[in-house]
Amino acid sequence: MKPHATSKKCLGMIAMADPIAKAKQVLSDKKVGDIPALSLGAISDSEGVKYKQKAYPDKWDGMLVFNGAQRGILVNTRIDNPARHKFTFAHELGHYFLDHPPSFSKDGQLGIECNVSETSMEQKGREAEANRFAVELLMPQDRFLLLMLGAEIDFALIAGLAIEFMVSKQACSYRLVELTQKPCIVVFSKHGKITSYKASRAAKGFWGGYASLPNETVAHEMIINKKQQSNFAECDSRKWLLRTVPEQKIYECTRGSYADGSAMTILKW
Ligand SMILES: [Zn+2]
Repeated sequence: MKPHATSKKCLGMIAMADPIAKAKQVLSDKKVGDIPALSLGAISDSEGVKYKQKAYPDKWDGMLVFNGAQRGILVNTRIDNPARHKFTFAHELGHYFLDHPPSFSKDGQLGIECNVSETSMEQKGREAEANRFAVELLMPQDRFLLLMLGAEIDFALIAGLAIEFMVSKQACSYRLVELTQKPCIVVFSKHGKITSYKASRAAKGFWGGYASLPNETVAHEMIINKKQQSNFAECDSRKWLLRTVPEQKIYECTRGSYADGSAMTILKW
């Protein structure tokens, strides 16, 4: 366990290092409205944290800058994707509220420099903590659950919730899979190579762990032909999964933005 974090002003006496509890506390203390993505600037202002969004030529996505007791947030808008900028902003607020220490010192400047991935499987430690904070801040569990209640996980639901919460479809699909009771796996690929995936609790242990989309699946066919799948298709689960499911049938659907070769596949049963 990490040592007890220093409390921030206006946030009461209890300041926990748990990123989810901390995000809930910020949402409540700052009286954040229904679309938290719209309140990031106000949250910063209320803490006296200056922020700037600008297209920096550098590779990093976001930075928390330390200047004595003063903190500042920089969001790199070099990649034109407003949902991603919001996630980065929330991620940097995570480092701030979780009292993460600076990770670099350059020309007398201290800071935390981040390459923020909303769906990375590898991130650990403080980066993962800042991401968990960002997910709870931007897509609070209680509000999110209310909107996904009883709905089928499909591309329409993901697109709708992504607009509602002003997050990327990737971040939104990961949140859905994290919170659903149903067996479901989302798989992201680029030119057929799997870049990330997430399995819901009910689907844990089923995923085949492939590096590429398996042959003889509709996903494979869609990507080869750069096509969009209009509806879920029934398929043999043995092509995708390590373990059998009732009647061996699962449903898959793939859509891509083939300009950059990226695609998303939803598997459910
Ligand atoms: Zn970070």
